[in-house]
Amino acid sequence: MPDAAVWAAEIEARRLAGDGLEFEPKAFAAATETVWPNPELQRFLDVLVASHQMQRIDVRLCPNSVCRLPLDHGMVANGECPHCHLAFTESGDDPIPSIRYRITGEASRDIRWIIVVHGMNTRGAWQEDLSWLIANKLKYAAPVLIHKYGWATIDVLLMPLHRRLAKTLGEKIRRAVDYARARGLTAAPDILVHSFGSHLFSLILQDEAFSDLRFGRVITVGSIIRPDFAQRHRS
Ligand SMILES: [Zn+2]
Repeated sequence: MPDAAVWAAEIEARRLAGDGLEFEPKAFAAATETVWPNPELQRFLDVLVASHQMQRIDVRLCPNSVCRLPLDHGMVANGECPHCHLAFTESGDDPIPSIRYRITGEASRDIRWIIVVHGMNTRGAWQEDLSWLIANKLKYAAPVLIHKYGWATIDVLLMPLHRRLAKTLGEKIRRAVDYARARGLTAAPDILVHSFGSHLFSLILQDEAFSDLRFGRVITVGSIIRPDFAQRHRS
């Protein structure tokens, strides 16, 4: 029967790896070969929550027994699971209340500020949603710079145009970095690039003229950057 030392080691390993940070107690018990339910493990988890090393989260799970995706408020309000597409409001299945734990601490750092570059010819509605989410989910204000460009296509014959769009974006980022630095925000920005935005971002990274730019986390959505980009352009 594993004891608190085994559980503590598992928590610490996950914290360091930044992986498996959110879990259901039953799954944690299985990972540490502990029988569940287990009053000792429950007490161990309670102590971590009380000392703010973990959060206890009330979640609702998809009622589909083969899915069980944790549903956020939006998904519950929407009445449909985005994973298995069960329309649970229609079918009269209520989401299942459950408890999860989230390890807090060193693994993740705060978002200092973020640049968002959208994809091709989109209205970029998701960016507005994202800024709204960032503004509402964080307990502090993280400035968000949204870059929109005009019409573009991925046609390789239009490379000169792509370079021009990338230059414009790079210069805008540099101005934003200067502006932020002048106001005491010295951290490199995180950047979220979508689709064609990821192509422009890769051009900036290859451009000697922008070698002074530094970035924190890079998040790509629907990226069209070649998977071997880092190997091909390692400096
Ligand atoms: Zn589901």
